[in-house]
Amino acid sequence: MSTTRGLRTQPPDDLLRSDAPAVVDTLGRPLHDLRISVTDRCNFRCTYCMPKEIFGPDFAFLPRDQVLSFEEIERVARAFVELGVEKLRITGGEPLVRRDLTVLIGMLAALRRPDGQPLDLTLTTNGSGLRRLAGPLRDAGLQRVTVSLDSLDDAVFAAMNGVEFPVAKVLDGIAAAAEAGLAPIKINMVVRRGINEGSIVPMARWARDAGHILRFIEYMDVGTTNGWRLDDVVPAADVVAAIDAVMPLEQLPARYRGEVATRWRYRDGSGEVGLIASVSAPFCGDCTRARISAEGKLYTCLFSAIGHDLRAVLRSEASDAELREVIGGIWRVRDDRYSELRTAATGDLPRVEMFAMGG
Ligand code: SAM
Repeated sequence: MSTTRGLRTQPPDDLLRSDAPAVVDTLGRPLHDLRISVTDRCNFRCTYCMPKEIFGPDFAFLPRDQVLSFEEIERVARAFVELGVEKLRITGGEPLVRRDLTVLIGMLAALRRPDGQPLDLTLTTNGSGLRRLAGPLRDAGLQRVTVSLDSLDDAVFAAMNGVEFPVAKVLDGIAAAAEAGLAPIKINMVVRRGINEGSIVPMARWARDAGHILRFIEYMDVGTTNGWRLDDVVPAADVVAAIDAVMPLEQLPARYRGEVATRWRYRDGSGEVGLIASVSAPFCGDCTRARISAEGKLYTCLFSAIGHDLRAVLRSEASDAELREVIGGIWRVRDDRYSELRTAATGDLPRVEMFAMGG
C-alpha cells in the first residue's frame, strides 16, 4: 500500500473553499469540517457499532456532567468556525436522544463564517425520532439530514439494528424530514458481507424512486468491539457492479476535492448513488474533518486512539483566543492517515468506538 500518497506541504487551491483563514496540517489539509457528537447514548444496538452483548443495560455511559453543555458546544464550534470550518454535522450516539436538541441547533444556526456566510449545518440520525423532531429541527435552522438505513427488509434490518426496530418507522421518519424540507435527504447504508448484500438493489431502487441520495458505506474497522474482519467488507466496486447489472450506472466527476463519496448516476437520468470506499479506496489525503466527542475530546482521525481534551480547556480560565490557539496547534501537527496505512499490523492498535467519537 502506498506510503507517499497524500504527502503535501502546501494546501491545494481546490481544498480551500472560501477566504476563511486556513489552518493547515502537516499534509496540507485545511480544517474544513467539524462533526460534533452530542451524546454517546443510542436507542439502537447496531451489531457493527454498539453490539448489545457489550453495550447492555449495565453499560456505563457518560454521566451528564461529563458531557459538553450546549453553551460549551456552541463556544467550541465558534472557535472552529473562526479557524475556517464551514460545515458542521451533529451526530452521536443518536443525536435525537439528546434532550432539547433543537435549542442547540438554534445556537449553531446563528453562527457565521468569517466572511459572514451561514454554515452548512446538518445531522446524522437513525431516523427513529424524526417524525416528532423533523419540523422543530428545521424551524431551529437545521438544513439537511442524513438517515442511516441498512435494509428495507424487516428481518435483515432487525438483525443489524439489534433492537427489532421496524423499517416502516424509519421510512416514516424520512417522510417527516422530507415534509419538513430537510432536503436533499441522504441515506447511509453500511454493507456487510453475508448480512445485507441482498438489500443493495432494493435500497437503490427505493431511494431512486423516492428521490433520496443513497450512499453505500464500506464496513469499517472502527472501534474494537464489532469483531471486524476484512472478509466482511463488500468493496464499493462490487456494490456498483450489483446495481449496474440491473440499473446501468456511469461515474460522475467529483464536485470538489475531498468529496468523500464517489458518485454514480443512472444512465437513464433518474438519479445517483454514492459509494464511500473507506477501506478499498481510502481518502485520507483529502480528509479535512475534525471530530469532537460528547465529552469534548478532539479527534483528528476516525481511527485515533487518543483524543485531545478540549473540555478541560473549556472549563478552565482560557480565553476564546487561547481556545483557538489550542485547536489550531493540534490541527497544524496532524499527520493521521490510518486508512491509507491500514495493514494487518494496524488491526491490533487500540481505537475508540465510533458511537463514542461521533460517527
Ligand atoms: N445514530 C446516528 C446514525 O445512526 O446515523 C449517528 C451515529 S452513527 C455512529 C453514524 C454512522 O456511522 C451511521 O450511518 C452508521 O451506520 C455508521 N457506522 C457505524 N459503525 C460503522 C462501521 N463499523 N463501519 C461503517 N459505518 C459505520
